[in-house]
Amino acid sequence: MTHLDSPFLNLSHPIPFDSFTTEHVVHHITQLLEEAKRDLETIETTSEVTYETVLDQLDRLGENLESCLTVYSQLESLLGTTELREAMREAQPQVSAFYATIPFSKALYQKIKSLAESGSVSSRSPSEKRYLEQTLLSFQRNGAEAPAETKSRLEAIERELAELTMSFAKNVVEETDEFEWLCTDKGRLAGLPDSAIASAAQSAQGKKLDGYRFTLQGPSYIAIMTYCDDRSIREYFYRAYSTRACNTKRDNQSLIQAILNLRQEKASLLGYQDVSDLLLASRMVKNGTKAQSFVDELIEKTIPFSQKEHAALIHFAQVHLNWSEELLPWDLSYIAEKQKKVECGFDAEVLKPYFEVQSVMQGMFKIVEHLYEVQINPLTDLSTWHADVMTFALKEKGQTIGVFYADLFPREGKQGGAWMCPLLYKNESQPHVGLICANFTPPVDGVSLITHREVETLFHEFGHLLHHLLTTATIRSQAGTNVAWDFVELPSQIMENWCWEREALDIFARHYQSGEAMPDELFEQLKNTQQFRMASGQMRQLTFAEIDLKLHREYQFDQDGPVLAYARQYMNQRSTTPLPEDYAMIAGFTHLFASSTGYAAAYYSYKWAEVLDADAFTRFKQEGIFSAKIGKEFRDKLLSLGDSQDPAQLFENFMGREPSTDALFKRLGLVS
Ligand SMILES: [Zn+2]
Repeated sequence: MTHLDSPFLNLSHPIPFDSFTTEHVVHHITQLLEEAKRDLETIETTSEVTYETVLDQLDRLGENLESCLTVYSQLESLLGTTELREAMREAQPQVSAFYATIPFSKALYQKIKSLAESGSVSSRSPSEKRYLEQTLLSFQRNGAEAPAETKSRLEAIERELAELTMSFAKNVVEETDEFEWLCTDKGRLAGLPDSAIASAAQSAQGKKLDGYRFTLQGPSYIAIMTYCDDRSIREYFYRAYSTRACNTKRDNQSLIQAILNLRQEKASLLGYQDVSDLLLASRMVKNGTKAQSFVDELIEKTIPFSQKEHAALIHFAQVHLNWSEELLPWDLSYIAEKQKKVECGFDAEVLKPYFEVQSVMQGMFKIVEHLYEVQINPLTDLSTWHADVMTFALKEKGQTIGVFYADLFPREGKQGGAWMCPLLYKNESQPHVGLICANFTPPVDGVSLITHREVETLFHEFGHLLHHLLTTATIRSQAGTNVAWDFVELPSQIMENWCWEREALDIFARHYQSGEAMPDELFEQLKNTQQFRMASGQMRQLTFAEIDLKLHREYQFDQDGPVLAYARQYMNQRSTTPLPEDYAMIAGFTHLFASSTGYAAAYYSYKWAEVLDADAFTRFKQEGIFSAKIGKEFRDKLLSLGDSQDPAQLFENFMGREPSTDALFKRLGLVS
């Protein structure tokens, strides 16, 4: 097969992962880019201005390119081979450059504007009208009405942002991969659970090394920080993690400063006071001031509770651990875990035998099958990118409406964390297709026991997946997870609620050997943890949200100096323990700096969505957590509609009122 007739040029279900080679990546992307450019030109030059010839075509513009690019960049994250990374790095800039030109196309803007002015859209559906309105606004927010000189500067800014943010992301990945700590003296690993030690031994064997290999990847890092008795090892890992990518070889501080400058310049050119106002105009929150007051209000309400929690932690350390020194950042998780064990009677490890990943997944499927009256079945004939990957079909009344891949364990080169990615959208001949990824504790002897937190992660990503697979929005730009950033976490976070309900746990949390349900005593202990140190957790998230808004609303290099020190100073004020002088968390803050926009000025969205999810779940609580009636309402009024209506409206349609923060504070036990 030559690269000219490759299925990757016109991707459809099933995606031929088994015929993927890195060799043609650049060719494919270049070729599809040419196709997209021609399609854009067709819209720009059409003499017939109708919804079909302009907006419909715009919605479909670059569909092949996008699918191909999505699959390739997912493979880059999943395989992490140097060749693919390099190919993507070669191909990406021209693609970003193309997408960056679309919002600046004068000809395209004129067509859309004349369509809007023609009045011919008055008979279109509300979602089509919304699409037109949103498209016009997004052009205007890119300077469609600005002078030519401003426009060309805006275009240049977008191009630079795409490059700088890609370098930022690459630095973080490489720096994380580069770190390893090989321990040959098992005595130094005192405190660590057997499972973590076994994983470290396996990791060393994989590298043909003796001993135990620990890294900065999620499971390994968290195990050290939570359990390792040797304080100096915890400190070593903490410092390595919180100073990633801020050295002369990989200098993310300079990149952040340049990125922030460009974003601010863009906001000013468009007449916005700051980056937050520009970026939040199309979000549920609408502007930076509202986001700021949301964060401020939550911080104020949370601080008294988090101070109380910290005092309790110190007291615990003194009484139970004979602690006499000052608490430092690398002590918090470690002591908190011990406190949790004593006060909640909880040990995350003791629960793990109830969370065998396959059973958890089957149970999760069962719950979703109840709620949304669908069926989920394994598929056996789909090709994938690795033997670990599982494949499934989501069916309704016997018809396949979605297909998905699940890649749940870490591998060398695979990106850390957990995520969902939509791969293909439904059309006449194919269902929606998506994938979920995680980096759970890898199976030992074929059995993977995960923590309750990891169970929540699985439910979370599955919530994102359902948002994609169940969408009925027919305009691609409005489908599934193509919604405002501060709304996109509602469908995922609401799923986590089921991880805390007895009836739900009885379905998916069964002992992997005996098959028994979780004993009442363990369940009580788990429930205790739901409100354990929650104010501290919330303050951590709010600190990230606060620094994000500071960076995108106030920070200026001339007056505030180097950005790492600036951020550290503010984060230190919110921290209960003094942060190290070289603390540089934001140098690894991919949410804010790994893509042109990402979560910039929008980290508050996590808390915002938590407010929404806690609030929305109260309806399930009232009428039964497996209620197909509420499930149907949630699906029909909110989940399936994507961005076809204003998110604030969708929420109100489901709840019958505006969101309230009460349910969240109540869930966290933060009520006096
Ligand atoms: Zn999420």
